[in-house]
Amino acid sequence: MQIQKHALISPAPGTQRELISLHYGQPAGAGTQKAYIQASLHADELPGMLVAHHLRQQLNALQAAGQITGEIILVPMANPIGLSQHLLYMHMGRFETMTGENFNRHYPEQTEAAALAAEAQLTQDPAHNVRVLRRELKKAVDESQVDTELQSLRRKLMSLSCDADIVLDLHCDAQAVMHMYTEIPCWPECEVLGRFIGSRVALLAQESGDSPFDEACSQVWWKWKDRFGDRFPIPQACMSVTVELRGAADVEHELARQDAQNIVDFLRYRGLIAGPKPALPDAIGDGRPLAGSMPIKSTTTGVLTFVRQVGEQVAAGDVLAHVIDPITAEVTELKSPVDGLFFARDFLRFATAGMRVAKVAGKEAIRTGKLLGA
Ligand SMILES: [Zn+2]
Repeated sequence: MQIQKHALISPAPGTQRELISLHYGQPAGAGTQKAYIQASLHADELPGMLVAHHLRQQLNALQAAGQITGEIILVPMANPIGLSQHLLYMHMGRFETMTGENFNRHYPEQTEAAALAAEAQLTQDPAHNVRVLRRELKKAVDESQVDTELQSLRRKLMSLSCDADIVLDLHCDAQAVMHMYTEIPCWPECEVLGRFIGSRVALLAQESGDSPFDEACSQVWWKWKDRFGDRFPIPQACMSVTVELRGAADVEHELARQDAQNIVDFLRYRGLIAGPKPALPDAIGDGRPLAGSMPIKSTTTGVLTFVRQVGEQVAAGDVLAHVIDPITAEVTELKSPVDGLFFARDFLRFATAGMRVAKVAGKEAIRTGKLLGA
């Protein structure tokens, strides 16, 4: 395994942060695949960091046994900026405190720059086109202008991942069951991943808004397919998935060891690790439109207590939580607007009016506009 250190733009004299990446196998070439896995882009979401810790040990052993046949890059901690942001003893890892920007939004697009550079080299051979487009995309990413530390982090993460066949971005929700976000063209491959990791639901969209990391990796392929139309065959050459490893406090060795093993099994199934191909597990979840994932907002302010658990199937009109005014003793019921899977809820227990406190994944696409929360 080779360790690479990538210096970010210095935020202050005498200070410079580094992104660390662990490299297994050999750089992918003809006939081999590349997987890129990063943990804790939202730096206060720790389950991914513990999964990466276990994954690293499993990959070290596989490497020592000569079993890694593809290229695997593991970034065990994807956000050194957010890791050092604290306010009054609270870890603030989701938004950069300098700009207020979400660390998992605003990944710049190099789709058109790479397309222009690649166009004259494309042929009727899809595998050749994938190689050319990956090369030109990586070049465009590496040559893109960055001015700030945050932008330099985003560019390095994209540079490491943009030419991968498989991209896993390990996050978590507040309190949740295992679930995923991916773009619709990635769903056939993601469905297989979901079986291995035990995902209860995958939330599917295409350009959900504000360019999160996983979409930045996968969207180039369907955009190029649209752009080049009948002229050149362009496959969806990257499956990119945001994996939500349950809730923020689900940071336990047994869970993480099993999650790491499940990822190794998936990579072996996909052919990046030698050995007998594991059997495809049964699905315990499905894919549903992100536009059908309904946020439940508190209509008032008060103490929040849930009366249903994440993982339960709920019906439209079912009460999920109470918000209690401690002065008047008034109890406000928060109800599910749809039939669906109650898959995530907040861990805060004081609700303010308008706060999104839970999410239910229904089967019908209902919402429009930007589909991701803050
Ligand atoms: Zn996250």
